[in-house]
Amino acid sequence: LAQLFRPLDMLGMVYRTIRQGLTDMAAMFDLIDTPAEITDKPGAPALAVSGGAVAFEDVRFGYDPDRQILNGVSFKIEPGHTLAVVGPSGAGKSTIARLLYRFYDITGGRITIDGQDLRDVTQSSLRSVIGIVPQDTVLFNDSIGYNIGYGREGSSQIEIEEAARGASIHGFVESLPEQYAAKVGERGLKLSGGEKQRVAIARTLLKNPPILILDEATSALDSRTESEIQATLERISERRTTIIIAHRLSTIVDADQIMVLDAGRVAEQGTHNELLRKGGLYAEMWARQQSEAEEEAVPSA
Ligand code: ATP
Repeated sequence: LAQLFRPLDMLGMVYRTIRQGLTDMAAMFDLIDTPAEITDKPGAPALAVSGGAVAFEDVRFGYDPDRQILNGVSFKIEPGHTLAVVGPSGAGKSTIARLLYRFYDITGGRITIDGQDLRDVTQSSLRSVIGIVPQDTVLFNDSIGYNIGYGREGSSQIEIEEAARGASIHGFVESLPEQYAAKVGERGLKLSGGEKQRVAIARTLLKNPPILILDEATSALDSRTESEIQATLERISERRTTIIIAHRLSTIVDADQIMVLDAGRVAEQGTHNELLRKGGLYAEMWARQQSEAEEEAVPSA
């Protein structure tokens, strides 16, 4: 009997790995067209993470051969530090996250985690150390408990509740008549943008990855929800190497480093104060967002 079940077990494992990978990717990227196939090198070892240092060295990449998107991007993130990536729409911010996840292979340069080239290690080991909190979380037509527990196969109810507490969604779930068994998704309860983001945070807490990618939602949540989520994200990014793709500069003032990307190049890099003093692109973006915020604060007649 065991002989009969072992292959089935394997199949289940393969299926779960693929499904996990696909959902992470689908959650983060629009899977409109199928990307070029990425394969592991024969005999590739698993990625060995010590501190989680991330480095891009002169990275070049284009989705199509005739259109370069990243034109030699270099940066380093020390283990446990946070890099915020900002810049105009289309600058290549999300592309950086996709490349770190090795959704595509680069055409020049090198991306490393703790000194290991991403192309030299297995994709499954790479993806197991990176957690993504996407702009828009994909929910399954299943219970909210299932949707949270999805962060790690085989999580217990206690672990799911602990992650939900960490993501400040436990109270909300408890208020539902069916609690963790409540159905969500297309055919169930519709969650708000903030609640969905908390589900993604809880999943990530269960996965407990040393490297985090936070893709800030473009559409603003109400300011109370936003500051609560912001506080949770700050908590979970402590001691983890974090890349934040930011649209609102107010959320990244405290980042260890801010990188301004413009047309696939690093235009500026530094802390918030350094970049303000520099009076360049970042300072301009900051001034613009400040005046927009003031305009919004003044009630129109
Ligand atoms: P935003 O702030 O609007 O999210 P971004 O800085 O994150 O923008 P990217 O999503 O990295 O920008 O896109 C960079 C460029 O690459 C854009 O011009 C975009 O049109 C192009 N691009 C993104 N995904 C693909 C794809 N799958 N195939 C072809 N081109 C793409």
